Amino acid sequence: MMRSLRPAHLKPIHVVGGGLSGSEAAWQIARRGVPVVLHEMRPDRSTAVHKSGQFAELVCSNSFRSDDAEGSAIGLLHAEMRRLGSLVMRAADTHKLPAGGALAVDREGFAAAITAAIEGAPLIDIRREEILEPPADWDSVIIATGPLTSPALADTIRALTGETALAFFDAIAPIVHRDSIDFDITWFQSRYDKAGPAGSGADYINCPLTRAQYEDFVDALLAGEKIAFHDFEATPYFDGCLPIEVMAERGRETLRHGPMKPFGLTDPHRPAAKPYAVVQLRQDNKLGTLFNMVGFQTKLKHGEQVSIFRTIPGLAKAEFARLGGLHRNTFIDSPKLLDATLRLKAMPRFRFAGQITGCEGYVESAAIGLLAGRFAAAERLDERPLLPPPSTAHGALIGHITGGHIETIESGPHSFQPMNINFGLFPPLGGGTTRAAKKQVFCARALADLDAWISAAGAHAAE
Ligand SMILES: Cc1cc2nc3c(=O)[nH]c(=O)nc-3n(C[C@H](O)[C@H](O)[C@H](O)COP(=O)(O)OP(=O)(O)OC[C@H]3O[C@@H](n4cnc5c(N)ncnc54)[C@H](O)[C@@H]3O)c2cc1C
Repeated sequence: MMRSLRPAHLKPIHVVGGGLSGSEAAWQIARRGVPVVLHEMRPDRSTAVHKSGQFAELVCSNSFRSDDAEGSAIGLLHAEMRRLGSLVMRAADTHKLPAGGALAVDREGFAAAITAAIEGAPLIDIRREEILEPPADWDSVIIATGPLTSPALADTIRALTGETALAFFDAIAPIVHRDSIDFDITWFQSRYDKAGPAGSGADYINCPLTRAQYEDFVDALLAGEKIAFHDFEATPYFDGCLPIEVMAERGRETLRHGPMKPFGLTDPHRPAAKPYAVVQLRQDNKLGTLFNMVGFQTKLKHGEQVSIFRTIPGLAKAEFARLGGLHRNTFIDSPKLLDATLRLKAMPRFRFAGQITGCEGYVESAAIGLLAGRFAAAERLDERPLLPPPSTAHGALIGHITGGHIETIESGPHSFQPMNINFGLFPPLGGGTTRAAKKQVFCARALADLDAWISAAGAHAAE
């Protein structure tokens, strides 16, 4: 329920961006009785993909993905958000369409419902303007301007954060769940057993290919269907992050002398047989549950990626936490720059929310907006912001953003990459059960821990 009296003694919190995350953040702040000013540049100034002036416009698909709260990480996130009074989930449930196990929404009805709720909230003051640089007297600001943040504000953020680059032509390699990799075929070893600054000498999972397997793999890459670029993505490739299929086009041996080189590695299962090529996977999160395919950025269609990558020895049953892609995006190096409650360490009056923090997707962006709004409101009310338990979907997601990612040996601006919610981000369970059974235990544990957190945080959380 929304509190309606404007507490005269409270300064407003400024939310910049009325997308999925900014709308949810503003809503959460207002429902705590704290005034908000929501700044949105549309419709006067738009992005390359938004079409309307509505809040929370869905720019592409109308799906919030699986709604299964007992067996899918995204369905669990839906369930948690409902329990936390999410405006985005309320509007999605009201405007849902038939879509099997997925939650798909009527995009017009959805955005109209969010817009009406925000416009009708007495504590939310809407300003239709582009923010170039938040003024110094705004003491609490949430920046939720998304993957297509306006260039002028992106410049300001670059200066605030000291980032050299902010809008990337993102090269994304697929990420695989470790427990779906076959260790009777693969093995742990770093090239030439080098430990490096933070390694053990056995930091990579290696998948060996014979010459015939390599030739078949190159053929499959060349034949595979690719995704076309959007017009607004007319940004050149950096030579350091060429898609694997582009490398394969440059010559049949190129990959074998690039990301698939077999040198400095010995297969302990067949020590006498030298592999012709090797695919390496590198740990991607602190928990050690996720591994990324090194150098495997690709624009192959998702279905093609799954079938082609499962021909790699050791990956026949690979489950992917994320598939590869290449697109323009704007996000900050959150693990380095943000504290546990999403504040900029160097300038805590700024918080970040949504896709700009390094989550991916409508629902994840709204969930991080929800948390940013709760944290900012708690702070304004002189309360200590309570972090969600790491076993919940909210906790797992914010953990990835503010600390779960590990810097890799070849760390650099591309090391931290946006990610959808997935079970690889959750603290692992004991072994012994099937993947399907584990998912159910993850979900049950998360909802029980969320309820305990809501009780600890006070009655407002569940209103
Ligand atoms: C081409 C494309 C396709 C996508 N397809 C999907 C998909 O199918 N499914 C999915 O789950 N996710 C998809 N995404 C990701 C999706 O955009 C995000 O998940 C989600 O919209 C992010 O929410 P957000 O609130 O962080 O940003 P947004 O929803 O983009 O909201 C940011 C808001 O900030 C405003 N803004 C920007 N700069 C300023 C400024 N300086 N001052 C004031 N306002 C400003 C913008 O107008 C916008 O309203 C896609 C992204 C892109 C770019």
